[in-house]
Amino acid sequence: MFPFAADRRWLSALLAVSTALALAVTAAPHARAQGEETPEQLRQRLAERLKEDIGSTTKVGTGARSGKDKDKGPDKDREGRRAGGKSTTLPSVAVAASAARPEVHWSYTGDNGPDRWGQLSPDWKQCAVGTRQSPIDIRDTIRVDQEAIRFDYRASRFSVVDTGHTIQVNVSSGNFIEIMGRRFELMQFHFHRPSEERINGRQYDMVAHLVHKDSDGRLAVIAVLLERGQDQALVQTVWNYLPLERGDSYDAPVSIDLNQLLPKDKAYFTYMGSLTVPPCSEGVLWMVLRQPVQLSSQQISIFSRLYPMNARPLQAGSGRLIKESN
Ligand SMILES: [Zn+2]
Repeated sequence: MFPFAADRRWLSALLAVSTALALAVTAAPHARAQGEETPEQLRQRLAERLKEDIGSTTKVGTGARSGKDKDKGPDKDREGRRAGGKSTTLPSVAVAASAARPEVHWSYTGDNGPDRWGQLSPDWKQCAVGTRQSPIDIRDTIRVDQEAIRFDYRASRFSVVDTGHTIQVNVSSGNFIEIMGRRFELMQFHFHRPSEERINGRQYDMVAHLVHKDSDGRLAVIAVLLERGQDQALVQTVWNYLPLERGDSYDAPVSIDLNQLLPKDKAYFTYMGSLTVPPCSEGVLWMVLRQPVQLSSQQISIFSRLYPMNARPLQAGSGRLIKESN
C-alpha cells in the first residue's frame, strides 16, 4: 500500500520545510510510509478519508507521528517554522501545544476556512493578528536597481506528496539561491490555484512557491506565476508522478531541474511577509518573479481536479514597502 518508502534525507527535508504547509499533514504520511501504520489505523484513516470533503477539511494529526520521527520531527519543526527573528519563540510553543491537541483541521473554505485559522489554535494567532501577512496585492511598488537573484539550481531527484492542501515536491539537497548576502537552500515547492498573490489586482491561473531556507532557518520564497498557454515541461514531469492517494508520497525515478520552471526575465517584486498557511509565521522574504510562465489548460485541469481552490485570500498591505526591479 505504501511502496514509496521515504529515505531519511527526504524525510528530514520534508519535516524541515513543510512550513508553507501544515507540518503534521506531511509528516504523518511519511511515518506511515515507513510501515508503522497498524491495520486499525489504516481502516480509521480510510474511514476519515471517505468522510472528507475533497478540497476542504483535512485531518492534521501530530499524534500519529512515530517515535522514530519524534527524534527529528520537533527539532526540524522548530527550524522549519522559524521564519525570522521575530518568530523564534513561536515554534517551540507550537510543538508543545500541538502535543496536547493532536488534531487541528484547517481548510480553504467553510468553518475552518482562512478567516477562522487564527482561532483554530493558539499557535496560529498570527493568522488573525499579524500585520506582515501573505499573500498581498502587489501594487504601489518602488522601482529600483535590485540585485539579481543568483539561482544555483541543478538536476535533482524529487518526491511528490499530496499533502491534503496542495501538491508538494520535495527536492534533494544541492539547490540554492543567493540574495542579500545570504545563501538559501531549496527545500520544496508546491502549487496554488489560483495564484495567491496578485499584481495590481490581477490574479493568475496558478502559482508555484519555491521554499528556501538558510542556515539560520530563515525562509525565502520565490513565487513563479503560472498562466494558461503552452505545456510546461517541469510541471508535466511532476504531474507524471502524482501519488494516487492523498497523504502518499511518490519517489520519482527521474530528475528535475528547477531552472526549467523559471521565466527568462528574472526581474522580481520583493517584500516581507508570512507563510500563507497556518501557523502564518512572519519574517518570510518573498520574491515574486514578474514574468509569468505558461502551462497548458490540461495541466491546470489536472491540478484543479485535486485542488480546485487552495489560495488564501489577500491580506492587508499595512504600508509595507514593496520593491520592484527596474
Ligand atoms: Zn504556498
